[in-house]
Amino acid sequence: MKVEPAVHQISIGREPFTGFPPPNSFLVCGSQSSVMIDSGWESENDHYARLQLIKSLNVPPVNHVILTHRHPDHAGGALRLYEELNANLACHHLERSSIESERYVSAGVTFETISEGDRFELGNLTIEIIDTPGHTIGCIAPYIPELSALFASDSVMGISTTVVRSNEGDLGEYEKSLRKMQSIRPRIIYSGHGPPVTNPMARLEFLIDHRLKREHELINLLSISEMSIDRLCEAMYKGISKPREALAKEQIISILRKLKNEGAVKEDHGAIWQIN
Ligand SMILES: [Zn+2]
Repeated sequence: MKVEPAVHQISIGREPFTGFPPPNSFLVCGSQSSVMIDSGWESENDHYARLQLIKSLNVPPVNHVILTHRHPDHAGGALRLYEELNANLACHHLERSSIESERYVSAGVTFETISEGDRFELGNLTIEIIDTPGHTIGCIAPYIPELSALFASDSVMGISTTVVRSNEGDLGEYEKSLRKMQSIRPRIIYSGHGPPVTNPMARLEFLIDHRLKREHELINLLSISEMSIDRLCEAMYKGISKPREALAKEQIISILRKLKNEGAVKEDHGAIWQIN
């Protein structure tokens, strides 16, 4: 789907959670060259559909595939794109070891590592890399200043809030990244799932507010009584479906870790949490 003259949003693939939209990749077309942002899943069917679409668009050559973060619904198809498009692969160095499996080594593929301030010139358009750690610790958001368009991937979605798993992300960094994205004042945010966010400043404000409310909620609960993660989950995510419960607990662990770093809460030996 062409979302603006130079940007195609490609939404292909299935997510494990019923009703959650497929991952988005983006084809950005400059006057001289094109860039893919994210690759979608590693799936032959998805790859075939994606490739047919890219070929049908007849755009300037795709020189790079930029991966916003390590998750397989966004980075899984990169090797096949490399093979078919002969495009260089690029990601943040903190994501690289999670993406670069044995398959890449045997195919002789090396990633370009990119971070804040790196630029890709596409002729009439420039892609600037913004570090937005949080959802994962090496998450990046490509930004096109000429279009005031930010590709925030899973860091900002219009359809959902973002899960931050404590073993791969950092909630404190995520909150800082939301404020950093606010400071850019983008006209539009292209998301990892679902339609573009056309009211980015309001959405970023909502997401920051949501995070703060969750922290306050957790502190209020622990002020009443010490609690395990299971009990916190029952109290904070009432009626959540079984498949999503594990994600909710991951989120609670991330909040607890952030609050522990700030000295607000502590854990005893039985994994019971209390106010510090
Ligand atoms: Zn993700």
